[in-house]
Amino acid sequence: MFKAILVNKDDQGYRTELAQVDEASLPEGEVRVKVSYSTLNYKDGLAITGKGPVVRSFPMVPGIDFAGEVMESSSPDFKVGDMVLLNGWGVGEGHWGGLAQQARVKADWLIPLPKGFTPKQALAIGTAGYTAMLCVMALQKHGLKPSDGEVLVTGAAGGVGSFAITLLSKLGFTVVASTGRLEEADYLRKLGVAEVIDRAILSAPGKPLAKERWAAVVDSVGSHTLANACAQTKSDGAVAACGLAQGMDFPSSVAPFILRGITLYGINSVTVPRAKRIAAYEQLASLVDLQTLEAISHEISLEESIKYASELMAGNVRGRVIVDVNR
Ligand code: NAP
Repeated sequence: MFKAILVNKDDQGYRTELAQVDEASLPEGEVRVKVSYSTLNYKDGLAITGKGPVVRSFPMVPGIDFAGEVMESSSPDFKVGDMVLLNGWGVGEGHWGGLAQQARVKADWLIPLPKGFTPKQALAIGTAGYTAMLCVMALQKHGLKPSDGEVLVTGAAGGVGSFAITLLSKLGFTVVASTGRLEEADYLRKLGVAEVIDRAILSAPGKPLAKERWAAVVDSVGSHTLANACAQTKSDGAVAACGLAQGMDFPSSVAPFILRGITLYGINSVTVPRAKRIAAYEQLASLVDLQTLEAISHEISLEESIKYASELMAGNVRGRVIVDVNR
């Protein structure tokens, strides 16, 4: 038996609890992992609270990422004792995830624990940090250079936002943070932002084209914020869109695309091929220093993840939440 967060939906409603689970109940997969750390991402918040329809079958163990040690493997790629990492692949949504002391998954979904990180450090980065890296890689591929001008990061005090700021500022970009929590300005400046703006400026309906300001944008918010960010992006600039914290809608027009030639990159971290995942973590290892990881993240127990999920949904959680599943 092992401990797991279990989400149920039946005639008694939507419920999430800490439960004891039998190994025999684990879903199919070639590799069984003794999980050491998972985290709380926005999607986990939706899954635990039921605020969004991310869970596709019940009962479900949430947790879209985890790190741990291989306990059992029928795959030639992994042997008992290997340290592994998982992000995405629908784990915690359609297949039992990482908010548990054990997980069984497909070998293809795992990568070796990236060099330079302990399991806890890799999960301090977690899916949010890895997604921020994918956003930055899209902007790098676009050809963005620090001399092109300011880069806007929305949802700045959240997990993706905090990492996007860290990575961009380490790469020499001038970063402007948009946040609804102006009281977090000191935290954001410590991460490297040059200016903090109130997210209210971006979150209300705006014009199809506005004064050009941003060389590029990393947006984890969607909705009017993304539309306004596109409308304010300079000619030939780029916007990397990965989230929907404000909403899934995109009330924009074609104007920024056909009159300013801006490019909108969609970022999907869930099904990225293994080689690109490894490349993302290699760049993370060169850009993220361990002190920053400490500043961005804090640790909670498995049981506390239920309470924290509501706080995350209420927008009260700063940076990253690491879950020690054995505490
Ligand atoms: P998070 O830690 O909860 O951060 C989200 C941030 O968005 C909040 O901290 C808040 O920042 C801002 N926000 C919240 N509600 C808002 C609203 N109503 N209007 C405007 N801003 C709002 O979540 P996360 O884990 O960083 O994830 C951020 C988003 O990226 C989520 O939508 C998540 O689903 C998405 N995501 C996508 C991928 C992918 O593969 N595409 C991967 C990871 C995450 P401030 O307090 O600073 O305003």
